[in-house]
Amino acid sequence: MGNETATATAAANKADTGLARALAWIGSGPKRLLIGGRWVEAASGKTFEVINPSTEELLCHVAEANSADIDAAVAAARHAFDNSSWVGMSPHARTRALLRIADQIDRHADELAAIETLDNGMPLWFSTAVATTAADIFRYYGGWCTKILGSTIPSDASGFVYTLREPLGVCGQIIPWNVPILMASIKLANALCCGNTLILKPAELACLTSLRLAELIQETDLPPGVINMLPGFGATAGAALALHPDVDKIAFTGSTAIGKQIVQASTSNLKKVTLELGGKSPNVIFADADLDKAVQAAVKTFCGNSGQVCSAGTRLFVHESVHDEVSERVTRLAATYTVGDPLAPDTKLGPLISAKQRDRVLSYIEAGQAGGASLQLGGSQWSGRGYFVAPAVFDGVTNGMRIAQEEIFGPVLSIIPFRDEDDAVFKGNDTTYGLSAAVWTRDVARAHKVARALKAGRVWINTYGEADPAMPFGGYKQSGWGREFGQESIDAYTQVKAVMLRM
Ligand code: ADP
Ligand code: MG
Repeated sequence: MGNETATATAAANKADTGLARALAWIGSGPKRLLIGGRWVEAASGKTFEVINPSTEELLCHVAEANSADIDAAVAAARHAFDNSSWVGMSPHARTRALLRIADQIDRHADELAAIETLDNGMPLWFSTAVATTAADIFRYYGGWCTKILGSTIPSDASGFVYTLREPLGVCGQIIPWNVPILMASIKLANALCCGNTLILKPAELACLTSLRLAELIQETDLPPGVINMLPGFGATAGAALALHPDVDKIAFTGSTAIGKQIVQASTSNLKKVTLELGGKSPNVIFADADLDKAVQAAVKTFCGNSGQVCSAGTRLFVHESVHDEVSERVTRLAATYTVGDPLAPDTKLGPLISAKQRDRVLSYIEAGQAGGASLQLGGSQWSGRGYFVAPAVFDGVTNGMRIAQEEIFGPVLSIIPFRDEDDAVFKGNDTTYGLSAAVWTRDVARAHKVARALKAGRVWINTYGEADPAMPFGGYKQSGWGREFGQESIDAYTQVKAVMLRM
C-alpha cells in the first residue's frame, strides 16, 4: 500500500511539474513565428488570442501570419532545401536528428501534454498518451531515413538504368486543432525523413504545442529554414500556403469542404496534394460478437477526445437481434463517462474546442430529435463555463437522417439496426466518406469478407481506433487523397527520378 501511494504521489508531482512548466511557458509572453531559424513578429504586427476551452479564459497571444510571412517562410524553406543542409546530409545523420527530436519530446512530454490540455481541452491522461505517441512517430520516421530505396531496372549490356527516390522540396502543411501535437508530429517527421523542408501552419484554435515543439526542435540544432512554423488563420495564412507558386506539396488535414478548396488552390502550380479529411465511420456489431468488448469500444470511440476525431465510429450498426440490448448497454456505459475539468484524472470528456463547435454539435442533437431519431442520452446544455457537451446517444436512426450522414465532430452516436451481412455492408458504405470502419464478429470468414466489402482506408476487426505508425492511414471516397504512415507516406513525400546511362 505504501508503495502504491508513493507511486501515485510521484505521478501527481510529475504532472504538477508539467503543468507548472506549461503555465510558465504560456505566461512567458506572446508567441512568435519561426521563419528561417528565427522567432519573429508577424510582418503586420498582428496577433490573435488563444483561449482555454474549459474556462473560456485567455491563455496568451500569438503572432498572426498572413501571406507576407508565408512568402518569407517559403523563401527560407526553399533556401534550406537548395543549400542541401538537410537533404544533403547522410541519411544516418538524419536518423539521429529525428531520434534527438523524439528524445526532446519525451523529456518534455509532461509539459507538452499540459500545454495541449490547456489549449485544446483534451483530458490530461489523453494528452500525455498522445505526447508519447508523438515521440514514437519521430522514431518510426527516423528509421525510414536509411531505407528510402530506388531500384535498378533491367537493360541491355551497354545501358544502366536506375531510379532515385528524391524529396519533393518545399512542403506546406496545414493541420487541425483536434489532436495538434500528433498532427504536427506526423506531418513534420514524414516530411523531414524524406529530406524535404517545410512550412507548418497549425490551426488558429490550438497552436501552442506546435509552437513549443518547434522550439524544442530548434534546440536540437536542425539547420535554419528546414522547419518553419507559422500560426495564422485558414483563409489568410492557410490559403496563401496552398496557393503559393514555390511550394511543391501541400499536405492538409481538416474538413472535406476546406480540402476541396486546397485542391483548387493547388492548381496554381500543380503542387502535389495529400488530404486527410472527414469521416462518418461505420462500426458494425454482429450478434455473435463479444458484446462486452464491442460495447466498451463503441462508447470509447464516439466519446474519445469528445468526438473530435476524424476516424471516430459515429455510426453504430447493430444486428437487429441484439439492437435493443446493445443500445441499452451503450447508453448505460456512456452515462458513466465523466465530463468536466480535463486536468482531473477521472475525466473522460473535456470541452469541445470552441463555442462555435459546441453550438454546432448541439444543433445536430436537435436535428436528430426533429428528424425522428430517439435520444437515449444527453442533449441537455452545460450551464457553467467552458464549451462542454455530454455524450449523446440516438437509436432508431435511419441512414438518410442528417445525424447519420454528416460529420458532427462531437460526442454524438447514431445507432442503426441491420438485417444481415449484405444490409450491414450496404448501409455502412452508404456515405460520401470512407476513412475508417470496424466489424465485430467471432466468425473469421465473415470478419474478412466484411472488412473487404467496407469502403474505408482502415478497417478494424474486433477492436476500434488502434493505430500504429507502420499502418497506412487515409481515406476512400471524400475522406481524402493519399496515405499517412507506412511505406505509402514515404511515397507521398518523395518523387521518382529514372536515370539512364549509355556506356
Ligand atoms: P475545422 O472547421 O474543423 O476547424 P478546417 O478544415 O476549417 O477544420 O481547418 C483545418 C485547418 O485548415 C486549420 O489549420 C485552418 O486554419 C485551415 N484552413 C481553413 N480554411 C482554409 C483555407 N481556405 N485554406 C487553407 N487552409 C485553411
Ligand atoms: Mg485554444
